[in-house]
Amino acid sequence: MAHQFRPVDRDSEMLLPHDMLDWVPEGHAVRVVIDAVERLMTRDLTGRLVPPSPKGPAAGPQRYDPVMLLTVWMYAYLRGVLSTRAVKPQPQRNPTDPDSRLMPVRGGGFIQGYNCQDAAADDRLMLGGYACQDTGDARQAQELAKVAQKGAAVVAAAHAAHAADRVMLRQCHDRMCTLPEKEKNAPGHDAAACHHAMTSGIGVLVEDAGYHSQANLEAPGPDRLIADGKTRDLARRQPAEGPPPEDATAVETNAWRLRTPEGRALYKRRAPDVEGLHSSIEDRTGLRRFSLRGLHNATSEFLFAGLAHNLRLLAAVS
Ligand SMILES: [Zn+2]
Ligand SMILES: [Zn+2]
Repeated sequence: MAHQFRPVDRDSEMLLPHDMLDWVPEGHAVRVVIDAVERLMTRDLTGRLVPPSPKGPAAGPQRYDPVMLLTVWMYAYLRGVLSTRAVKPQPQRNPTDPDSRLMPVRGGGFIQGYNCQDAAADDRLMLGGYACQDTGDARQAQELAKVAQKGAAVVAAAHAAHAADRVMLRQCHDRMCTLPEKEKNAPGHDAAACHHAMTSGIGVLVEDAGYHSQANLEAPGPDRLIADGKTRDLARRQPAEGPPPEDATAVETNAWRLRTPEGRALYKRRAPDVEGLHSSIEDRTGLRRFSLRGLHNATSEFLFAGLAHNLRLLAAVS
């Protein structure tokens, strides 16, 4: 027999505080998400989230606020609720998306899917990315560099605001500066200049061997260092010192840099940043498979997971 329940109105029973956020500690991820989504949502974007509701007798029950729903959805991504399948638009989906392609998998074999390109900053922040149907990475290097530059410009603008606030500048610098603690706080170290150097744009774009080509090394854009062999082979090469030979080509200069202590140190930092971003999206958010179909939607879902990843980083530092 079906039961009839009375509607729950906790507010009138005073079980909940008037402002539910009173229960949420300062700096909690929930606050970070609410703040971010509210700042992102323009009137126009809100309007595009839902079609206008029908008027008159056709109007159904009141709908949930789309911005609130988006906030919940983003928080679910941030907390990796996706991986438990607790949030899913539909119980079943077609695994064969006509836009997807057979992609070679590292270690052998193929999977049906997309090639997802992304760029991570030195602090693992996702600078941008997109899904594509290309089975290799080399032809994506220049597009990815553009995406990375666009993202880096947004990040630079946010950090430029820190420069005007001494406390903020100190906190931000101390979090990112890779110098040993003692040198970091030494009077001779110019924290403002260091912060500017770390955050004002892309220093060097570091890419794995999949992106290696003469064209990619010679293309305009930020300085780049591209592996020309497997990581373990790079480590076995004869170390080099100082500048490359004067008549060296772009490919030779790059190979030389990879052998210098500076080049090695730079390349070593790539793996934790990029793989940190990937494991965050795949393992923590639980996005191993797109729930939306089509290339454009795959990019949207990928970037949504990237945004959740960035908010997760932000929540951890705020
Ligand atoms: Zn900063
Ligand atoms: Zn520093």
